Amino acid sequence: MTSNFDLLIVGAGPSGSFAAELLAKADVRVALFDGRPEGEPKPCGGGVTAKALKAWPQLLGAIGRTINELDLYSPSGKKLHLELDEPFAIYSRVVFDSYLRDRARDAGATVVPDRVSARKTKPVDSGWKLFTDRGTEYRGRILIGAEGANSGIAKMLAGPLPPSDMEVAFGYRAPLPASGEAPTVVAFLPRWVGYAWAFPRPDHVSFGIATTQDAFEHQPLDDLLWRFMITYYQQRDDSQIRFWKESNGSEKIESELRATSERYAARIPGLADKTWETRTVCGQNWALLGDAAGFADPVTGEGIYYALRSAELLAECYLNGSLEEYETRWREDFGAELRRAAQMRRRFYGNFWGAPFTERMIEFAKGHRGVRRVLGDLIAGEQGYVDLRRKLLRSAMRPL
Ligand SMILES: Cc1cc2nc3c(=O)[nH]c(=O)nc-3n(C[C@H](O)[C@H](O)[C@H](O)COP(=O)(O)OP(=O)(O)OC[C@H]3O[C@@H](n4cnc5c(N)ncnc54)[C@H](O)[C@@H]3O)c2cc1C
Repeated sequence: MTSNFDLLIVGAGPSGSFAAELLAKADVRVALFDGRPEGEPKPCGGGVTAKALKAWPQLLGAIGRTINELDLYSPSGKKLHLELDEPFAIYSRVVFDSYLRDRARDAGATVVPDRVSARKTKPVDSGWKLFTDRGTEYRGRILIGAEGANSGIAKMLAGPLPPSDMEVAFGYRAPLPASGEAPTVVAFLPRWVGYAWAFPRPDHVSFGIATTQDAFEHQPLDDLLWRFMITYYQQRDDSQIRFWKESNGSEKIESELRATSERYAARIPGLADKTWETRTVCGQNWALLGDAAGFADPVTGEGIYYALRSAELLAECYLNGSLEEYETRWREDFGAELRRAAQMRRRFYGNFWGAPFTERMIEFAKGHRGVRRVLGDLIAGEQGYVDLRRKLLRSAMRPL
């Protein structure tokens, strides 16, 4: 049996589901495919910026945790406690993704809980035909690749990305601390590009490290993350927590954590400067969204905002009858900013005045309210990279 649709959207993460919802609401016939087993989360910190929550307040309908304060640690362990003017949210990805997928279904999209084989997806006269792993054939005029960083459709239509355009993130989902205190922590790594995080969710804590694929060294980074996690559970109230050092009395915590935590790992696109210029994510009858397109912040790995925004832009272009305009729209909307982030990545994790830039940034922020405000805006998603360094410096130079 063959089913015919206007659009075939492969992948029901935030990008695919949101595009399906917007299009189905406008009476477009959409099929949305995803083969992820029920209850299996997409590996992710689940942090959604204030900018995204303001743009799409309906996201607050998903049950998450609101974060009003955050502890930032420099590579040497200096702590900065930030009260956020604009809170962000942390979601379990099972909850967040199901919420968006249900909205797409309620809007009228046909949700097919099966994987699609990119290899067997072919152009036909009327558009595209694809097969699910159950062997069912579907046809549609337009094909949308929204199946994440390992997208087979993106490889087929836009070409593969080299390892230098990828970041790696891995971590553990672990129980909430028995004390009930679960601070939200971001700690910049010593020696490596990237950071570790502890993001408490309603029923567990997501720990992880994000770094570049080029520089990925599995064992030392895993050891580093374990020290970070153990120190987190020790809950020492001091402003110089040495997250990266061995500490006493950690054996019991470690053995409990090893027995209860679940490991995950995945790639995040982190496109290099040049790739932003050359990447094409849309053609006459196809387009890519979110991670499949490469749309994540190369400095932080944040991708949910760009997944949702790309979905919105694509839906607008399709409904205006000009799908190919999507290429211009995403570049104007957030492409320049992400390209700037790619240019900044080396400097952000590089040295500045004889120490890591992130070390200096936290030192300055401890003494300057203005620098703290700029950092708060960065976390909220409201501060771009184009003028970040200038703003930080200007705030640091101002009298206290
Ligand atoms: C460890 C980690 C932590 C992160 N933390 C954050 C964070 O805190 N905040 C943030 O903003 N971003 C974060 N990101 C990035 C964020 O997860 C992505 O940018 C975002 O999920 C992209 O959404 P998407 O819809 O494009 O793709 P995805 O969320 O990857 O969704 C793709 C969907 O496609 C499905 N799929 C895959 N292959 C097929 C197939 N062949 N057929 C059918 N379906 C398929 C998958 O099951 C999946 O549901 C993190 C990423 C990682 C790896």
